[in-house]
Amino acid sequence: MLLSQLHQIVGAAYVLTAAEDTAPYLTDWRRRFTGRALAVVLPGSTDEVAAVVKTCAERKTPIVPQGGNTGLVGGATPDMSGDAIVLCLKRMNRVRDVDAINGTITVEAGCVLLDVQQAARDAGQLFPLSLAAEGSATIGGNLSTNAGGTQVLRYGNARDLTLGLEVVLPTGEVWNGLRALRKDNTGYDLRDLFIGAEGTLGVITAACLKTFALPRAQVSAMFALDSVGNAVELLKLAQSAAGATLTAFELISDTCLRIVTRHFANQRSPFGASHSQYVLLQLSNHEDEHHAATLLQTMAESALEKRLIVDAAIAQSSAQSASLWKLRELISDAQTLEAKHIKHDISVPISSIPRFIHETDALLASNFAGVEMVTFGHLGDGNLHYNVRSPIGLSDEEFFAMQPAIYRCVHDQVVRFQGSISAEHGIGQLKRDENARYKSSIEMNLMRAIKQAFDPLNIMNPGKVL
Ligand SMILES: Cc1cc2nc3c(=O)[nH]c(=O)nc-3n(C[C@H](O)[C@H](O)[C@H](O)COP(=O)(O)OP(=O)(O)OC[C@H]3O[C@@H](n4cnc5c(N)ncnc54)[C@H](O)[C@@H]3O)c2cc1C
Repeated sequence: MLLSQLHQIVGAAYVLTAAEDTAPYLTDWRRRFTGRALAVVLPGSTDEVAAVVKTCAERKTPIVPQGGNTGLVGGATPDMSGDAIVLCLKRMNRVRDVDAINGTITVEAGCVLLDVQQAARDAGQLFPLSLAAEGSATIGGNLSTNAGGTQVLRYGNARDLTLGLEVVLPTGEVWNGLRALRKDNTGYDLRDLFIGAEGTLGVITAACLKTFALPRAQVSAMFALDSVGNAVELLKLAQSAAGATLTAFELISDTCLRIVTRHFANQRSPFGASHSQYVLLQLSNHEDEHHAATLLQTMAESALEKRLIVDAAIAQSSAQSASLWKLRELISDAQTLEAKHIKHDISVPISSIPRFIHETDALLASNFAGVEMVTFGHLGDGNLHYNVRSPIGLSDEEFFAMQPAIYRCVHDQVVRFQGSISAEHGIGQLKRDENARYKSSIEMNLMRAIKQAFDPLNIMNPGKVL
């Protein structure tokens, strides 16, 4: 009965039930979670989403929204009950409007991030959200996880880049909050509640996003350093030398670089010798290439003089810049090829990062023999991908049995340093219990009250976040 109603709404071709058709939607990107579903439904318009949600609400059928399925916390994967539908928005991929004067682009939620960047560029604008999964991740998923990425330092995360939303509420009603305004103080900010809600409050169907003037020049460099402490000092130097021109500042440990070059034969370190840490940074400016390159060169000389860096590889062309960034982008894939990892996506105040890494590395080494740290991340935002590699010889089952103890060790440290246990990937099902453990009861109760107000039937992505 439900299936035939869904057929009527979206068309039979867009209600998938055969195992071979639904399989790609039922396992997450890291293959940590697999679920079951009544069907995978692919609506083609906001009206269709609204009708699907209304039908599900009448039957109290749970809905798991999904975009590109690149999330890292199991947020888009249904549970094993088989009671839910997966609502995948990838057919909703139209760019509705680009307004270069207003500095906005309005897109449907299923637009792939890379396509949104391109549509903005075609209009002479920059949409700066950028992350390694941008060829598959969708705007709906980006907003629902409040995604970060490499440009947060200059432009902010997905929330900072959003002006308005169109959302199908758990009743099936459509909230048209698709405003293209930078100023709007007319009460509670509903938009910000849906951003980062991981599909638990409604289905985002479209968004009005901020765009910026395209920079005239972008230059990148990789610096080799002896310590994380020097990387933090280098950040300070780069910020004071380059100001808003500094658009990315990424930390890469030597282990990360080694696994990338080991697993991808065409990748090379730009340095002759290995060093403890590397920083990959980018400057973007509105003057010209020469100006940006000179600024970078002066900064490198000053950092060398102060002994903050030991070597520098400054890209001389956009192709060289792209190859430096490729090393960064391939770290996650190299980790997958290398071994199993218990991953932490954490943030602490930037000034605490050297002590956090030093003390937590030592704690892990003494409590969990044989683990190796694979640490990289958005140092400019205080956000580390602090990953623990499985000891050689341990089975996957044995390693993941250690996950609660490793989480406890790392997350206790994060709290001690006044940080967050999830800086950008969200909570999903992976970090749900950890979040409940570390958030105050006041915060948890407020979040539950919001959930109850929006979704009293608890049909929107149940079991995620809360
Ligand atoms: C190699 C790699 C690198 C990554 N790098 C980064 C990074 O640098 N920064 C970062 O922040 N993340 C990163 N991620 C994580 C991931 O790409 C982001 O979380 C991304 O924003 C998810 O988009 P998606 O369309 O794939 O969402 P999905 O995985 O499909 O869904 C993610 C969550 O959003 C919900 N959702 C999806 N669409 C909607 C919608 N329309 N309405 C309501 N809820 C919805 C889902 O229910 C789920 O809870 C990376 C992932 C990979 C695989």
